[in-house]
Amino acid sequence: MMNFFRRKTGKALVAGVLVTLTLALFYKSNYVVPVLMYHQVDYGPPGSGVHVTPENFERQMEFLKVHGYHVVPLEQVFLSMKEGRPLPLKSVAITFDDGFLDNIKYAFPVLKKMNFPATVFMITRNINTEQWLSEEDLRILHEGGISIGSHTVSHAFLPDVGQDVAAAEISESKKRLEAILGAPVELFSYPAGGVTWHARSLVEKEGYLGAVTTNYGKRNNDPYLVRRIKVSNSSGNLFNFWIKTSGLYHLGKKRITPR
Ligand SMILES: [Zn+2]
Repeated sequence: MMNFFRRKTGKALVAGVLVTLTLALFYKSNYVVPVLMYHQVDYGPPGSGVHVTPENFERQMEFLKVHGYHVVPLEQVFLSMKEGRPLPLKSVAITFDDGFLDNIKYAFPVLKKMNFPATVFMITRNINTEQWLSEEDLRILHEGGISIGSHTVSHAFLPDVGQDVAAAEISESKKRLEAILGAPVELFSYPAGGVTWHARSLVEKEGYLGAVTTNYGKRNNDPYLVRRIKVSNSSGNLFNFWIKTSGLYHLGKKRITPR
């Protein structure tokens, strides 16, 4: 009787180890570093897809801190793809699109407290206007460990504009930010995720290190087509946020390729 139980426990143990190994292998081979996409950290209308309240944002950042995530600069995500050198599991990058004033008011103090790097993608035409970051704000963020990237001059949807306009949007925004910061600007975000193969090649030619879109899609190894995961107030539910930062959120998502 005793032997029978010992044999049964032995078999269960082997099965358990095999399942764990298979799951670990599956996780490792499907893992993609999550790049989170925020817009406004502020109190927006209920159901807004672009607002995360300052309280939810702080809880999400605390979640990353408490659970030992490696919050890495976006530059590292691009470099790791270019060099074929994967980042450790549980790495995350944080980005903000558009350049809203609330990014410095509500998000920056939390990021500073946690010592987390992040990237703000600025629409350069909006600089120094009401509700948007000023030149001085951009310099403060830059000096405080936040990378400033381009989100074009006018938030142009690149698939809908001519090639000359697209080229100017990509290049002039870079020059303006570099003049403000006195430093190279190497990160780019396609407005509304709108990307064509032509726009992608312009971004690379202009000397950017990499670029992000908004569509999650499946894994790809192109640093100029990096998918992001949108965070909204529904991710105030930390279970939802945990899924989004798992590195497997892209599984089962539709692959969206540029036109
Ligand atoms: Zn945008």
